[in-house]
Amino acid sequence: MTERYADVIIDISHEKVDRPFQYRIPERLRGKLQVGMCVNIPFGRGNKLREGYVIDLSDTPAYPEDKIKEIDSVSVAQVRAEGRSIELAWWMKKRYGSTMIAAMRTVIPVRQEMKPMQYKEVTLLASHQEACDLLAQARAKHQTGKERLLEALMDGATVSYTLLTTKLAVSPQTIRNLETQGAIRVDCVQSYRNPVHFAHLPDKKKILTGAQQAIVDAFLADYDRGVRTPALLHGMTGSGKTEVYMALIEGMLQRGKEAIVLIPEIALTYQTVLRFYERFGDIVSVVNSRLSQGERYDQFLRAKNGEVKVMIGPRSALFTPFEHLGLIVIDEEHETSYKSDAMPKYHAREVAEHLAEMTDACVFMGSATPSLEANYKAQKGLYRKYRLDSRIGEAVLPKVTVVDMKRELMGGNTSVLSLALQNKIEQRLAAKEQIMLFLNRRGMAGFVSCKACGYVPKCPHCDVSLSEHRNHLTCHYCGYETAKIKVCPSCGSRYIYGFKAGTEKIEDIVRARFPQARILRMDADTTRKKGSYEKILAAFAGGEADILIGTQMIVKGHDFKRVTLVGVLAADTSLFESDYRSGERTFQLLTQASGRAGRGELPGEAVIQTYRPDHYSIEYSVKYDYDGFYKAELSYRQVMEYPPVCSMLAVLVSGRDEREVKTAAQKAREKAGAMRVIGPAPAALEKLSDMYRYVLYIKADTQQPLMEARERIEAFLQQEEALSNRVTVTFDMDPVHGY
Ligand code: ADP
Ligand code: ZN
Ligand code: ZN
Repeated sequence: MTERYADVIIDISHEKVDRPFQYRIPERLRGKLQVGMCVNIPFGRGNKLREGYVIDLSDTPAYPEDKIKEIDSVSVAQVRAEGRSIELAWWMKKRYGSTMIAAMRTVIPVRQEMKPMQYKEVTLLASHQEACDLLAQARAKHQTGKERLLEALMDGATVSYTLLTTKLAVSPQTIRNLETQGAIRVDCVQSYRNPVHFAHLPDKKKILTGAQQAIVDAFLADYDRGVRTPALLHGMTGSGKTEVYMALIEGMLQRGKEAIVLIPEIALTYQTVLRFYERFGDIVSVVNSRLSQGERYDQFLRAKNGEVKVMIGPRSALFTPFEHLGLIVIDEEHETSYKSDAMPKYHAREVAEHLAEMTDACVFMGSATPSLEANYKAQKGLYRKYRLDSRIGEAVLPKVTVVDMKRELMGGNTSVLSLALQNKIEQRLAAKEQIMLFLNRRGMAGFVSCKACGYVPKCPHCDVSLSEHRNHLTCHYCGYETAKIKVCPSCGSRYIYGFKAGTEKIEDIVRARFPQARILRMDADTTRKKGSYEKILAAFAGGEADILIGTQMIVKGHDFKRVTLVGVLAADTSLFESDYRSGERTFQLLTQASGRAGRGELPGEAVIQTYRPDHYSIEYSVKYDYDGFYKAELSYRQVMEYPPVCSMLAVLVSGRDEREVKTAAQKAREKAGAMRVIGPAPAALEKLSDMYRYVLYIKADTQQPLMEARERIEAFLQQEEALSNRVTVTFDMDPVHGY
């Protein structure tokens, strides 16, 4: 290639990076420049030399020849991680539609002036025998926090204070007590450290089953032959996918390569992370959304220096600047949290595939319920597909019972707990086994309506129904609050109250029905405080409660060996979202929820309560029939022309003046041209914080024409400055969340 022009982005700390500048490539550099390289270029009036990154090469001048300056020299010849990040940001900007700044902020953590941070470390002072005695005492008194603390320190390791208080959920008071007793020592250290630090852990490598080994061998053999086609592993929860990931990572490390492991934030628990530490030790690190920008930068620096070779985290871990990336694992590939809801609205799966292409790495995805997208690609041969069809060891899939709640009501049971579920809870409590109850909503009694006339109180700003919360009605979008309504403003009836109980209410009901049970509740309200999420999980895992009640959060990836019963209280709520993916979401949720039971030696059982026992997503999930579900769901998508059969771009227009919003949306439709367009129509959420919202959907067979349509709309908005000052237009390629 001998392109004559290069688009260059000026050094990244500069604010004016929103567009690249075109430069001429001098004769001597032609054919030698690569995207991502760092070059020296004359910039501004004084033609001061600055560093910039090449993001594109072309043969056509975008300006008159004499207006184009020439590249001075190559600053760093090799495409380093940073240049690669910029190339990736540019790709994301083009694909998803955002400013270059927003894309760069996503990809590159802000370089900050970092104050030396203080880390506290805890070391055991007591002798081994003394520690054993203390541990025995703690066990006898059920002081589980103290137990975890002593166990962690037992073999003389020094453990980070933050690790103890967060991941191990040991209270500062417990640490202080032992410190006063002289059993442990707390030191302050000034250094940048891995936020989670383990020392001297035994290697917990397992001997793989035949099925696991076959996948690992095939994948690595392919890798050595240069095959880089993404791979999808379909295996139910507990089938040993994580062990496969770890074996693949080991294979990569042996080949001098590094690995990124994406795990949805919600499943990124102490248990999961610990497994990776136990296997690989200190070369493992974690990023999560709770790290500050500085801490994240620090982690990335360690990866760049080669100190860290395996980075675990939610979607942002993708941007770890490894120099020798070999593998990107995406666990729970179907999770909707892999789609960013801030600009650029990227999907981690797509970015991972592109990044892998750029770096000659390979993507390996795993899921118990692969997304329609991934399975569709596997079927078309665009992904390699592997399966793990049985659970490890004795664990069998739980038996699932469906309870029709309409019948329950006809039979005179008005409780949210069906009689069948009540009986089974009773049995489990008697047998000292654990129970998880799962609900889709939070809040005291959720959705409020008048039973006489159907009136529903709504938020005056957001047009969504208000939720009952102890003594208030609250809007979950904007936080608007008003007093509870006692008399229906529409018909005067007193029969106005919430009819879908939330987690708090369920807790009250279960407590009243089973006064002997110890109950924990986990939802957005009880986990707001830092560390409380881990605390609740650790307490439940430690047997400090019999029943765990919760939302979505409790069904993700936790491995509680004594849970033998899972109850899904209202399986329908996800079916009522006004979104074409609700069937898929329901299927995934139910499969995951029942997968929570029977993960140990004890057999498990699941009860699904629903008003729609005949819906296909419920029927197939009860039978664990993914293939059946996939076929039914795909034919629906085919008939209705929804992804993954096609691509779809959502265009959301919002503003204070409804007429202007409508006009702008209509214009956007015109600019989309001769494409398949739905809308514009008021969004499901028509008004949010006093802004009107209209949405239109453009469909095409691939993303390319949609990117072009978006560019036409953007160009139009740039011309019509008056209009674009008063309305906001955002784009969402292949949206995952509804509007
Ligand atoms: P998944 O990721 O599919 O849910 P895991 O890898 O977590 O499955 O495996 C489920 C359980 O089985 C874990 O407790 C794991 O330690 C254990 N396990 C997995 N593979 C093996 C193996 N080959 N030998 C023994 N135990 C295994
Ligand atoms: Zn009424
Ligand atoms: Zn509101």
